[in-house]
Amino acid sequence: MIPTAAELIAMRSAIDFAMHPEAAIGPNPRVGCILISNDGTYVAQGFHRGRGYPHAEIAAINNAETSLAGATAVVTLEPCLRLDRESSCATALVEAGITRIVIGQSDLTAQAAGGIELLKQKGVDVVTNVLSDECSSINPWFTVSMAQKLPYVRLKLVTSLDGRIAAQDGSSKWISSAPARDYVHNLRSQSSALISSVRSALVDQSQLSARNSDGSKMPNQPLVVLVGSSEISEKHPVFQTGNTVELFPDRDLRKLLVDLYQRQHLSVLVEAGPTLATALLKQQLVNELIWITAPVLMGDTGLPAIGDLGIDTISSAWRPHLHSRDELGLDFVNILQFTTEL
Ligand SMILES: [Zn+2]
Repeated sequence: MIPTAAELIAMRSAIDFAMHPEAAIGPNPRVGCILISNDGTYVAQGFHRGRGYPHAEIAAINNAETSLAGATAVVTLEPCLRLDRESSCATALVEAGITRIVIGQSDLTAQAAGGIELLKQKGVDVVTNVLSDECSSINPWFTVSMAQKLPYVRLKLVTSLDGRIAAQDGSSKWISSAPARDYVHNLRSQSSALISSVRSALVDQSQLSARNSDGSKMPNQPLVVLVGSSEISEKHPVFQTGNTVELFPDRDLRKLLVDLYQRQHLSVLVEAGPTLATALLKQQLVNELIWITAPVLMGDTGLPAIGDLGIDTISSAWRPHLHSRDELGLDFVNILQFTTEL
């Protein structure tokens, strides 16, 4: 089945709505949806504003002021089918009376896939892969995560200009400036899970929560996973935030990421010391490096951000793709990607 000209135009519009300035910036993907009534007149639009808000299809159904019997839905991402939840977008579209659906990108994630199958079973005409490249590029991290069947992993490092994360005595507080700290809290809020190590948590005494500059909690808080088998007291600040914290004493980091992916944690932020950071890098489990550098020097007695990568000559040095470089107050943030499809 192929889309009509009107449906192609509607898909372009759905893509624009998906990228609305108020749309989700993670950890949920951006999605846009247009509903067209059976006489071909425009009915309603919807987009996903982020976790805790209705999905794009539900937002569009809620915005419709006329009957949707016999209507067509045009949506950038396959409607979800959540067998673990009472309702999902695929069933809601059928119940609303939609008889035809035009889909951009398929959803291959473990928990949400199956919407297309359900719609077909219910007798809905399904057109797939419409402007799929454009739709896939709305959420590059989501697309990469589905392709690799692992979360999209961003490793965040905050270092001195000479690549040190702490001084010789372990002190590291306030290397970076306030704008860089706000930036990191936004990264946490945009992530589904945050991986750190028990050891780093003990040294930093950090809550590992996403907070506004006034200290209040942001609406989305990541699941916190602490890697390592060191003892950590229940009184540690990380347990005082109300956020979910899991301990992972195993050393098999790929196993951890597979498990997170299967539980629909598709975007992971890593904030860790050199041991965990280096292990993830050497196992090629990092998609993106977010490296914040402050105009501070610590010298070679400081703790380096990254340990031995096994590089003995310059031709072996890693050269990830430089995606962007910005100023954050006095600091710089370089975003480097190991995933070339982006
Ligand atoms: Zn949905």
